[in-house]
Amino acid sequence: MTEAGSYAELAQGWRALRPRGVLVREVACVGAPRTLLFAELGAGTATATISISAGVHGDEPAAPWALLALVRDGLLDGRFAYRIWPCLNPSGYVAGTRANAEGQDVNRSFSRGGTSPEARAVFTANRDRRFAFALDLHEDFEAAGCYVYEPLRPGFAPWYSPVVVAALDDAGLPVQALEDGFDVGAPAGFDPTTMYRLERGAVLVDYEAELRAFSGLPSSFALLYRGTPSSLTFETPLPRPWAERIAAHRVAVTAALSRL
Ligand SMILES: [Zn+2]
Repeated sequence: MTEAGSYAELAQGWRALRPRGVLVREVACVGAPRTLLFAELGAGTATATISISAGVHGDEPAAPWALLALVRDGLLDGRFAYRIWPCLNPSGYVAGTRANAEGQDVNRSFSRGGTSPEARAVFTANRDRRFAFALDLHEDFEAAGCYVYEPLRPGFAPWYSPVVVAALDDAGLPVQALEDGFDVGAPAGFDPTTMYRLERGAVLVDYEAELRAFSGLPSSFALLYRGTPSSLTFETPLPRPWAERIAAHRVAVTAALSRL
């Protein structure tokens, strides 16, 4: 594949994994005429569960296709179980828009039990669940290289981002320099220097400062808030070739899992 397929093709790709033991369901979005794909691997055998999601922004297509490829090609570490959201914003994916069909940024709707149909569906499915780790896959239309957001609780040093950046370098994939002035998406009205430390390929986030700044939480922060020890958000550069972006997600996810 050299470019994004349709949402129907993405869903078909996931259903095709059922004979291989991947549980694939469609979860209702109450109050909206759509469902979310949901997949589980390794439930019942592994001791720890990891959450992986993609496609919360509908105009970042390599992320959901890379996630499908990671599962199809058996690249997820078999020590763990996985709960996977293959495409958290299907109406945005179909329309090619960041927001969902109602114009909401789904990745700012994970507060107060969910303020979008998609977030409410996720909270309902995750009720009573605890995760050892979470990964959320994105693309950045302004970037020339890959980078990762690593939220840090007070007193913690970065643990995942150094190995992710090293793995990208080893694979010859572009890493974003993140020099001063790069827009890392600080909540409106907040000075990014108060909550982000920028390194090559990594945005180290002061978790508590950013949590106070967001009025609508991203899915990654909602998971941290609900007890997941760490949660990474990975970004590939949308202007780069498709194959490179798919490869970068594969490298980043496998590198991060190796560090668990
Ligand atoms: Zn995004």
